[in-house]
This record gives sequence, structure tokens and C-alpha cells, in this order.
Amino acid sequence: MPPVGSRASTTPISPRASGRLSFSSAATRGVNPVPSSKHAVDAKLVIIGSGPAGYTAAIYAARAMLDPILIQGIAPGGQLTITTDVENYPGYADVIQGPWLMEQMQKQAAHVGTKLVADHVNKVDLSKRPFRVECESGDIYLADTLILATGAQARWLDLPSEQKFRGYGVSACATCDGFFYRGKNVLVIGGGNTAVEEALFLTNFASKVTLVHRRDSLRAERILQERLYQNPKISVLWNTVLDDVRGSDNPLKVNGAVLRNVKTGEVVERPVDGIFIAIGHSPATELVAGQVEMKLSGYVKTAPHSTATSVPGLFAAGDVTDDVYRQAVTAAGLGCMAALEAERFLAAHGEAEPRMPAELAAE
Ligand code: NAP
Repeated sequence: MPPVGSRASTTPISPRASGRLSFSSAATRGVNPVPSSKHAVDAKLVIIGSGPAGYTAAIYAARAMLDPILIQGIAPGGQLTITTDVENYPGYADVIQGPWLMEQMQKQAAHVGTKLVADHVNKVDLSKRPFRVECESGDIYLADTLILATGAQARWLDLPSEQKFRGYGVSACATCDGFFYRGKNVLVIGGGNTAVEEALFLTNFASKVTLVHRRDSLRAERILQERLYQNPKISVLWNTVLDDVRGSDNPLKVNGAVLRNVKTGEVVERPVDGIFIAIGHSPATELVAGQVEMKLSGYVKTAPHSTATSVPGLFAAGDVTDDVYRQAVTAAGLGCMAALEAERFLAAHGEAEPRMPAELAAE
């Protein structure tokens, strides 16, 4: 099995990292004024997000000589870094680990020339091109084109008690927190792939795992369902929802769950040590909210069979736009499409003159 472990270090970015990048100011560009205390980096393409969509877009864009800059965010690698076994990413006959796969994608993106930036984007201005991308560090990028690949984040039930005990017995990541539940009794809320995978993973530590699902059938893949039903440590509570989390205040610690059967209305309180919420994900669209058209589902809207958004020059790829498939491999496919479309957009606007290797070597 491939090693899971330390991440590849990122390629540091400096304003002079390539011949294309340069210092810019409001005076020189005439658009998107930049505070004088900060420098701005010009880029043909900035990619926001470091999941399969972002890294794939970077690989294609770098090979198209667009000198992409990929801003990785706080937790590089996206959702696959908090998953374990990956069996359905093509190209690997054996089971691989999600963090390892992302490490490989990052290395591949860096290897072909992507500038990886370990920073968090605070603000994006899409009102005119070049788009202005402001980062936590104070760095600013002026991007001729932008690929939004910010993915999705875990959803919560929004119970006040769930909020109160987050990090103290309530979690949305079994891979991150499962270790703390050795020999304990835990609940997993949800009925999709994530919930079933989390329940299975938790059996490595917990003595008892109960999957709590609001309906009478799971939406998880059949193969995962079979593993779930065959695992003697796991039981399923059907037609049941979590109404409240119970626990102590000092120390803050979960010790019970109030569960309600939605068919009978019966309410029971169960003693539990931990509760894992696995009820799906919401697209991470905050950066572009109000600036680009969204679908009714809250995902970024793209043209049919395209990653083009309502803002010319902005492309969206991966879970931030895909409310149907939401797979690593489809995210990677959309990332590829976004890079190709960005390249065509730049060429159509006279902003991408693919450079010859000789030109690059001369820099
Ligand atoms: P999901 O497929 O959307 O499933 C969410 C589950 O949570 C559903 O069972 C849903 O119930 C339940 N749920 C939603 N809101 C709820 C609420 N307020 N209260 C109680 N239950 C609630 O999300 P996911 O499991 O995170 O998966 C997301 C995507 O990633 C899917 O496309 C999935 O296939 C993919 N994924 C793939 C893998 C893999 O291939 N190995 C692993 C993980 C995820 P209902 O069923 O009643 O709607």
C-alpha cells in the first residue's frame, strides 16, 4: 500500500518566480487599485482550491504554459485528506489512501510547473478583469482567468447542543477523531456513503457503532451497505433523527443522545460517548456569493457541458458546482475541462500565447 504521511512541501511563490509574474500597481494596470503597501502578482490563471478539481486544472494549465498559481487554502487536499480507503479512483488496482492520492496530485501539479501557494483566500472581486484575489497573508493576485475549485464542506444539523459539543464529543470527521473513541460507544448520523464509511472506519476503535438514519433505506453504495450489515460492531437505527446532544459542562463532554423515531414519535435518550455527523456537504461558495449566478441548490451555475460561469473568465470545477455526481474522479474531470476552457478563453482574448520551450529556457 502506498505510504500515507507527510505532505510534499509546496513550491514557494515569489513575485519573481517566473518571467510572467510581475509587481503591479493601480498605476501600471489602471484597474483594480491595489493598496500601495501591498504588492500584487499578475497571473494568467489563478486556481482556488486544492482538491482533485484544483490540482487537475493546475496540471493541465501548467502543461498549456499558463503558469497557473494554485492557492491551496487552510487544509490542502480537500475532502480526500479526511477519508481513508479509496477503491474507486481509476488507475489503482489496490486500495489507496485518500491523503496519499492528494499528495500525489499535489506533487504532480508542482512537477509540471504549478506555483503552489499555502494561503487562504479572503476575498475575490469579480466585477472586472483581471479578477482581484486577496489572501490572508496580504498577498494579492490579479488574475486574467480564475478557476473556482473550493469544493464543499461538511454539513451540520444546526442543533444548539451539536454546536456546543463540537470538538468535545461531536465531530464531522471520523478519520480525524476516531482514534479518541477506543472502546467507546458512538453514533453516526446519516445514510450516504460518508456515513457508512465513517461507521465502518470507527469500528477500528469503538466497541459499538450505531448508524442513525432518518429513512428506512440507505443511499450509500451497495458494496458499502453490505460491509455495514456484515460488521458485528454496527447496528442501524432506522427512521430516527437526533433531536439533542446531552453532556456534561465541566468538563465539556458528550454522554448521551436524544433520538426520535419519525414514524412512531417515540423519543429515547441513549448513553453515548461520541456523535459523528455525516449528513452530506454544502458547496463552499462564500467567496463568490452575490457575484455569480447560482443554481437553486446553492451550487455555482455553469453552462451545459462546460465549466463556464455567468462571469466571463471565471470557471467552476468540482464539488462547488457539481450537485449530481460529487466524486473525486468527476471533480478531476471538471478540473481538466476548466483548464482547457480557461486556455481557450485566454487565447480568444489575446492573453494566452503559448510559449515555446525555448522561450521558457531563456528565462
Ligand atoms: P449524501 O450522499 O448527500 O448523503 C447524506 C445523507 O445524510 C443522506 O442519507 C441524507 O438522508 C442524510 N441527511 C441529510 N440531511 C440530513 C438531516 N438534516 N438529518 C438527518 N439526515 C440527513 O452525502 P455524503 O454521504 O457526504 O456523500 C456526498 C457525495 O460524495 C456523494 O455523491 C457520495 O457518493 C460521495 N462520496 C463517495 C465516496 C466513495 O465513493 N468512496 C465516499 C464518500 C462520499 P436521505 O438519504 O434521507 O436524503
